[in-house]
Amino acid sequence: MNAELRDTFGRLHDNLRISVTDRCNIRCFYCMPERDVEYAARDAILSYEEIERFVRIAVKLGVTKVRVTGGEPLVRKGVAELVRKLAAIPEIQDLALTTNGVLLPQLAEPLYQAGLRRINVHLDTLDRERFTRITRRDELDRVLEGLALVKRLGFGPIKINAVAVKDLVEPDLVPLARFGRENGFEIRFIEFMPLDAQGIWDRSRVLTAGEIIETLSREVAPLIEIPDRDPRAPATEYRYSDGGGAIGFIASVSRPFCQNCNRIRLTADGNLRYCLFALEETDVKGLLRGGASDDEIAALIRATVQAKWEGHEINSARFVPPPRPMYAIGG
Ligand code: SAM
Ligand code: SF4
Repeated sequence: MNAELRDTFGRLHDNLRISVTDRCNIRCFYCMPERDVEYAARDAILSYEEIERFVRIAVKLGVTKVRVTGGEPLVRKGVAELVRKLAAIPEIQDLALTTNGVLLPQLAEPLYQAGLRRINVHLDTLDRERFTRITRRDELDRVLEGLALVKRLGFGPIKINAVAVKDLVEPDLVPLARFGRENGFEIRFIEFMPLDAQGIWDRSRVLTAGEIIETLSREVAPLIEIPDRDPRAPATEYRYSDGGGAIGFIASVSRPFCQNCNRIRLTADGNLRYCLFALEETDVKGLLRGGASDDEIAALIRATVQAKWEGHEINSARFVPPPRPMYAIGG
């Protein structure tokens, strides 16, 4: 097998994000509808054995970074067992998980024992009322308890993902940044992207990285860009000039990073995507369940990477949002 996944624009793909479920225990307005959520049928979701087989084929093609996500990955039963299987794959140099943190009080320890160390916890605000408004659930205390626990257990790095929505989270920027500095959590602000289930995204609702940097530099401490820490990572990293740690920005809207993209995504229902915003998907489940050989699945992964477009066109009039919202694609 050719141990490299390179697309027609020369980009090397070594990063796989796996969604293990489209279900979630909260309802962030920029991702899910408030009610009547349409979930995939249980038998449409890949089993852990199917996921493991897929990953073992992908690592032979050069994938070294794997992130488990969802929906909310911790609502899927036995997720620590999947983590254990993935942690045992020697080619994976970087195994991480993204969670809303609500179930961390119960699951942080089993995940740690399964070999997980890198974790991103999604938290937009430290204010209970605003947390409940954003997520339509009153779960802030459990997320904070979960964060304290992952810190105590020795996870690292621990990152916090905060979605930057204009006219909403401005009061949260400084408290979140201070919370990160005090606890050694790296906050990553993610610009609001057109991936919500209810079609409410509008450019005017994107709080940009530039605006956040200006606020934090003024009110916390001056921020200095860390040059080329990892040019293929989506986040632009900054550090506080007073030594108070680092902070990241995923500026998909104001500073798209498509030219450096190294990612492919496996959805919970077994489709492979070359972009979060892709309008097409490749059915992998059919092959996994239809008796295909590893070589046939590898060929399908290669073909998906070969079909990858140059980049999303959020900033052009041609942009068409993908047919599935964030929770169904996998964030
Ligand atoms: N449930 C987990 C969580 O919330 O972290 C994992 C899946 S979630 C889809 C992954 C990430 O997507 C979240 O951390 C959240 O910050 C981000 N996200 C969801 N909807 C978004 C949107 N419309 N724009 C930008 N980021 C979004
Ligand atoms: Fe659930 Fe994560 Fe979507 Fe929020 S962003 S609704 S926590 S899947």
